[in-house]
Amino acid sequence: MSQPGIPASSGALSGLQAQNGAASASGSPFTNGPIQNELMSSQGYSSQLPGSYPHLIPAKTLNPVSVQSKYGGSQTVSPLSNYQGLQTLHRPPVASNAVTPSLHSGPVPRMPQHASQNPAATPVPSGSFHPGASVPPPLNWQYNYPPTGSRTNHGSPVSSGPALSGNTNLTTGHPYVSSGDPSLQNNFIKSGPAPPLVNSPLPATLQPGAPLGPPPTGGPPPVSAHAAQKASHRAVPQPSFNSAVNQEGITSSTNNGSMVVHNSYDEIEGGGFLATPQLTNKTTPVSRSVGYSYPSLPPGYQNTAPPSAAGMPPSSLSYLSGPQAFTQTPLGANHLTASMSGLSLHPEGLRVVNLLQERNMLPPTPLQPPAPNLHEDIQKLNCNPELFRCTLTSVPQTQALLNKAKLPLGLLLHPFKDLVQLPVVTSSTIVRCRSCRTYINPFVSFLDQRRWKCNLCYQVNDVPEEFMYNPLTRVYGEPHKRPEVQNATIEFMAPSEYMLRPPQPPVYLFVFDVSHNAVETGYLNSVCQSLLDNLDLLPGNTRTKIGFITFDSTIHFYSLQEGLSQPQMLIVSDIEDVFIPMPENLLVNLNESKELVQDLLKTLPQMFTKTLETQSALGPALQAAFKLMSPTGGRMSVFQTQLPTLGVGALRPREEPNHRSSAKEIHLTPSTDFYKKLALDCSGQQVAVDLFLLSGQYSDLASLGCISRYSAGSVYYYPSYHHQHNPVQVQKLQKELQRYLTRKIGFEAVMRIRCTKGLSIHTFHGNFFVRSTDLLSLPNVNPDAGYAVQMSVEESLTDTQLVSFQSALLYTSSKGERRIRVHTLCLPVVSTLNEVFLGADVQAISGLLANMAVDRSVTASLSDARDALVNAVVDSLSAYRSSVLSNHQPGLMVPFSLRLFPLYVLALLKQKSFQTGTSARLDERSFAMCQVKNQPLVYLMLTTHPNLYRVDNLSDEGALNINDRTIPQPPILQLSVEKLSRDGAFLMDAGSVLILWVGKNCGQNFLSQVLGVQSYALIPHTMTDLPELDTPESARTIAFISWLREQRPFFPILYVIRDESPMKATFLQNMVEDRTESALSYYEFLLHIQQQVNK
Ligand SMILES: [Zn+2]
Repeated sequence: MSQPGIPASSGALSGLQAQNGAASASGSPFTNGPIQNELMSSQGYSSQLPGSYPHLIPAKTLNPVSVQSKYGGSQTVSPLSNYQGLQTLHRPPVASNAVTPSLHSGPVPRMPQHASQNPAATPVPSGSFHPGASVPPPLNWQYNYPPTGSRTNHGSPVSSGPALSGNTNLTTGHPYVSSGDPSLQNNFIKSGPAPPLVNSPLPATLQPGAPLGPPPTGGPPPVSAHAAQKASHRAVPQPSFNSAVNQEGITSSTNNGSMVVHNSYDEIEGGGFLATPQLTNKTTPVSRSVGYSYPSLPPGYQNTAPPSAAGMPPSSLSYLSGPQAFTQTPLGANHLTASMSGLSLHPEGLRVVNLLQERNMLPPTPLQPPAPNLHEDIQKLNCNPELFRCTLTSVPQTQALLNKAKLPLGLLLHPFKDLVQLPVVTSSTIVRCRSCRTYINPFVSFLDQRRWKCNLCYQVNDVPEEFMYNPLTRVYGEPHKRPEVQNATIEFMAPSEYMLRPPQPPVYLFVFDVSHNAVETGYLNSVCQSLLDNLDLLPGNTRTKIGFITFDSTIHFYSLQEGLSQPQMLIVSDIEDVFIPMPENLLVNLNESKELVQDLLKTLPQMFTKTLETQSALGPALQAAFKLMSPTGGRMSVFQTQLPTLGVGALRPREEPNHRSSAKEIHLTPSTDFYKKLALDCSGQQVAVDLFLLSGQYSDLASLGCISRYSAGSVYYYPSYHHQHNPVQVQKLQKELQRYLTRKIGFEAVMRIRCTKGLSIHTFHGNFFVRSTDLLSLPNVNPDAGYAVQMSVEESLTDTQLVSFQSALLYTSSKGERRIRVHTLCLPVVSTLNEVFLGADVQAISGLLANMAVDRSVTASLSDARDALVNAVVDSLSAYRSSVLSNHQPGLMVPFSLRLFPLYVLALLKQKSFQTGTSARLDERSFAMCQVKNQPLVYLMLTTHPNLYRVDNLSDEGALNINDRTIPQPPILQLSVEKLSRDGAFLMDAGSVLILWVGKNCGQNFLSQVLGVQSYALIPHTMTDLPELDTPESARTIAFISWLREQRPFFPILYVIRDESPMKATFLQNMVEDRTESALSYYEFLLHIQQQVNK
């Protein structure tokens, strides 16, 4: 099959490696035609950063003057004063006594001690591969989790279920549960006589006399309801942690029914939605009392939401529709029909594609996620795929089937996405399964009006009395019409049971690098101005607190106490043992001290302009910030401009430019565990750290990034930031700060993902800390963060046709409300390999593989990760060929669902995270990997495989009409310079960046009517805005770009570039279908895959 004349089709993997590795450094000529060479010639593939600025900071000597004086003598900050004259504080002999208590004795109750005190214990580090695996991983993914250490997340007895965060059995044998001070662990045990059975925590998990420790594998002995009830109120020490955390597992519903304890799912196994007999002879007397003989009624989906706009969640108002009888017949038969006949699949979806013949499979419009093959009544209620999607929309019945498909099973989540419509339930009763703690959702079944069956564990639950009343229709007996069973995405106002302490106030602490290097970049001006502009827009209420720390070789605090005429600066020079001077005045109420805060923000940029201090004590400054925030929790925003050089957490340069090209070496692992440990401490005190790195030089983001990763923060990176020399970065920072400061924020959050019994979640990706086995600790949650998890099929799903996944995010809003956001996704189960392939979601698969590859790069090596990515394609297509296709035609045959799989994987190989070649600087690579882990899928895909449009000939043909605006819809082009032409203009949408490349011979019309210039040569070197001209061309172009921007919460910067622009390199590097000095073209890659598949 290989075609002569294409040099890189060597076939064997080794050939690929050679092509991608150092062996190709000699630089073979480009082979994609003259256009490509022409286009590249001006700028080539230089490794220059977008707008990079080779800024060198002259070395300066340390200022020898150091005035030291007594503690307590603070001095007023005056603008332009030389801060060297300020007093430096040393810890007074009594300082630790004087200061420390106030850190913990404030009005906010002290947080219980918890696992972060023992940061070494890390069962599932976020985003790790199989924990503890020390054997070098194979070059193929092992999608299934090793059978040991099962991590099912449903409440099988004594196992680590979601309900188990409050489980008494976790106290020993679990690395995350702090043993020790029991007084700290009993916050949730009500003393006194046991109350009537309200909210007995997690009955199914209680095993009096059961061995503590890891879950037994066999079925535990039956336990009577009485015993369990009693046990549930025993003051066995609760696993501690937990501010709000445990509460996510604690019920608030009031089940009036008899107490039933299921010791094992064996007892309650049975079908999901079909009216098949559920329990037969395995039923214990206790559970039989629930009455399984009732015929199953359908889930509450008959009163469906109005057809929602494509991709939008069901309307919040769906339950406003008129009263309807509870009459719909069971959907079993219908559902079966739909499932088996592939009703919801477009016929095209059943097609087999020969990728070597059909060269352009890229759709002209953005690829939509596949719709699960469900009955439309169910699918109508399903979760929006933008919030929650699965790599396989048809879930394989068994792990064996999943293994055969060689595709990863996992979920991609964007749980806190900004939503236009979000139904919020304020009723005091939150109805949850009393066995597995699942929230009632559209996919449960109502056995009758008084009982509902859980779609995750099949427990039969009572419908609480309150739930029988529909407050909107004011009708009794319509539990199936409640918003909770009409909306797959919903938010609950959580009652006090979901709190361990009063909801924390919004707390914002800003930590600024003010070393000479930082001052040189001029960033303080931008940041302080942005803060001034947005001070009133910070999410919060009258309780909002704010504070500031600056640092160089010392740490500077600012007293903003109400009543002061000016902010006071306090310098602490002891960075070995950091203490907090007057902690009560450093984090202040924003409303009460607003003028002082504004004063400080106005003067701060000038205060350090004359500094000669080059050292950076970042680690001690972070420690100080942590101490300041730990009584309350909150958000710490750290701005750093260089490698930290002083005190704890100091780092050394370790980037070796000569090694950049090799995929083997490189320092992607942290060089110290200081930042991770501190992050875990932060996580324990509900502090998240967001890192803004503005640096022209290597700053070891691989190490620094841990501070955000494990504390659920975000990382922002502005290479070569300079206020004058790099205006694009300045604009980028401004726009991103605007979003950062004003976006929604959730505090002291935890997230848990549950899935139908039989499925098991085993690896998590994203920025968080895995607290108990499956509880993600998120001191902050923001609407721009994405998460992914890997799953396996632990028990056969042969008895069910539908499985569900539910994520529950418990958080404190900036208004001080405790809320729970719940998303539920329902998917069909299938029994054949073909169906698994038909339902594959190629973007979700690629996104999950990217997350796995980041882990592999860190734990093994970059080349391992690259090989594994390639093998993922080869293995799955080989499986398809050998097990699904009956006649083996020549070519590279793929199911329609996976037609873009090779392209996306090739794009990943060329992405900053995984690319080889000299262009990838270490910090850029580390940042790209942070992005892979933390971005929602839609943006990860745009970053990896941008959309390319021709925009110099936009027309109204096929345009969208939205609110009287006409928005042109140019087709998406393949990412190849073959698609470019010098007489056109092309827009590349790479998610956070839009690049408009103007060809040298671009028509005069576009230049004058859209860009407002008379000739190509007059296009400014830095152009990040289109003028609003009174021409139809201008209106169309601006409408299209605005429309692209409106679809994302952040503001992508537009770069108008021509051939000489530094950005050109980025533009060309994104042409993933083309050959580069170190990577195959798409066609070469297909040939390589084909050879592997046909072996
Ligand atoms: Zn359940």
